[in-house]
Amino acid sequence: MDYKVLWENILTRLGSQISHQHILSFFKDLIVISVENGVITLGFPTVMTLNFIRPRYEAKIFQIAQEILPEVKELRLEIKGFLADQDHPHKADPAFMKSLAPLSTEVKQVRKVPQKQEVLLQGGMRSKMFNPKYTLNNFIPGNTNRLIHAACMAVAAKPGDIYNPLYLYGGVGLGKTHLLQATGLEILKNYSGKNVVYMTSERFIHEIVEAIGKKHTNSFKERYRKVDCLIVDDIQFFGNKASSQQEFFHTFNELYDAGKQIIISSDRPPKELDELEERLKSRFAMGMVVEVAVPDFETRLAILNSKCQELQVLIDREVLEFIAYNVDHSIREMEGILVNTIAVSQLTETTPTIRSVADAIRKLHKDADFQGVQVDVSKRIVARTVDDVIDIVANYYKLTKSDLLGEERRREVMIARQVCMYLIREILSYSYESIGESFGGRNHTTVLHAYHKVLQQLREDSRVRRDVNALKKEMGL
Ligand code: ADP
Ligand code: MG
Repeated sequence: MDYKVLWENILTRLGSQISHQHILSFFKDLIVISVENGVITLGFPTVMTLNFIRPRYEAKIFQIAQEILPEVKELRLEIKGFLADQDHPHKADPAFMKSLAPLSTEVKQVRKVPQKQEVLLQGGMRSKMFNPKYTLNNFIPGNTNRLIHAACMAVAAKPGDIYNPLYLYGGVGLGKTHLLQATGLEILKNYSGKNVVYMTSERFIHEIVEAIGKKHTNSFKERYRKVDCLIVDDIQFFGNKASSQQEFFHTFNELYDAGKQIIISSDRPPKELDELEERLKSRFAMGMVVEVAVPDFETRLAILNSKCQELQVLIDREVLEFIAYNVDHSIREMEGILVNTIAVSQLTETTPTIRSVADAIRKLHKDADFQGVQVDVSKRIVARTVDDVIDIVANYYKLTKSDLLGEERRREVMIARQVCMYLIREILSYSYESIGESFGGRNHTTVLHAYHKVLQQLREDSRVRRDVNALKKEMGL
C-alpha cells in the first residue's frame, strides 16, 4: 500500500474541515506508519501535535480512514520524534500541503472555492452564497478605505442608484470578497424580497459553458434577468472565452438598463484587464471604480484588535503592534498569523510574545526581516546567573529590578517576585538561603514559602502557568 497516497487522500477528505492554520502548523509532519490487521497507525512528530489533533480530529480521521479502507477497525496514534525534522517517504508532499492551505500569494493559482455556508435571512429565506462572518460593520475602513466602505454602504442602502456598477480592485487579501459579500448580505437584509446573486467569475463561466453545452442558454438568460443585484468576484479570472464574455456582456447590459445593481471585484483596474473585450472594460468603467488599498499601520492594528475581541482573547498591545508592523501587505495573512499565535499559545499554555510571533512569521516566510523591534529569534537567551533571571522576569512583567527586589506588596509585584524566586531555584538550583540573600537579605523561609506557593499556583492558576512557561521559553529552556 502506498501510505503517502493514503494519507493525502485522508487529508483531501478532511480538507474543508481543517483550518488552514492547523494544516500549516500541525498536519505537515504527520504520516501513516502502517495499516495492519485492521489497525491504522498514525505517526506524530511531537506530543504537542498529538495533543492538539486528538481531541479535534481523531474521530474524523478514523471515520475517513474507514471510508477509504473498510477493513480498518482501529486507529492508533504514536509519537515518532524523528518526524519533526526529517524527510520521510510517507509524508505528504509539501506542494500538496500547500494546495490544502494556500498562502495569500498563491491564491491566484489555487483558485479558492467560495465558502458555502447557509445564511438564514429574513422571512425564513436561506442563502448559501453568503458567509455571515463578513459584514459592513466588522470591516474596519481606516483612513485608506473610507471611500470604498462608504460606497458599499450607499449601494447597500439604495442598490441600483448612483454607484452602478461598483467596481473594486486591489491586491490579494485586502478585503474585496469581504466587502462584496457584506454588501450583498446587507442588501438582502434591507430588501428581503430582492434577488441577490454572488458568484466568482469562474462560477459564472462554468454556468454559461454548461448552458451552451446543453443548449439551455435561454433558461440561463431567464434566470439572470430576474436578478436584482449581481455580484461577480475576481473578474480577472474571466479569461478570454469569447462566448462567455458575450453572454456576460448581454447580461450586464440587460441588468444595467433595468436599473439593477452590479458589483464587481478584480485584482486590477478595468483598463488593465488585458483579456477582456474593450466594450466590457468600458462598461465597467462607467460607474464607480475604487481601489481597495493596503491599510495603514493604525488601521491594521485596529483590525487586529477587533479580531481579538471577536475571538475573545487578550493579547499584549506590543505583540499586536509587532504583527501589524511586520505583516503589511495582506490582511488575510495578518489574520492568519494572529490565529496561529492564539492556537499555539493555547496549546502550550504560554502568553504570546514578540518572540513567538516572530517564529510564526518566520514559518511563513523563511527570510522575514523584522522591523520596528529588535528580535533575533535565532539567538537563544540562556539564563546563567541570578541577575539574568531577575532581568528577564522584570522585563516580562514590565517592572523594574528594584520593584522585584524591594518590599513592595502590590499583588502583581508579589507574584512576579515569587515567580522569580521559583525560577532561580528551578533553573540554577540555588539554595533558599542564597536566593534570600539576593533578594535583599530575606529569610530562607520566605523563599521556601514563595517556591511552594508558585508550585501550587502552577496547578491551579492558568495565568501563572502561562507566565512561567513563557518565561522559561524566554530563558532558552
Ligand atoms: P480579498 O478578497 O481582497 O483577497 P478577503 O476579502 O478575502 O480579501 O479578505 C481577507 C481577510 O481579511 C478576510 O478575513 C477579511 O475579513 C479580512 N479583512 C480585510 N480587510 C479588512 C478590514 N478592513 N477590516 C476587517 N477585516 C478585513
Ligand atoms: Mg477574494
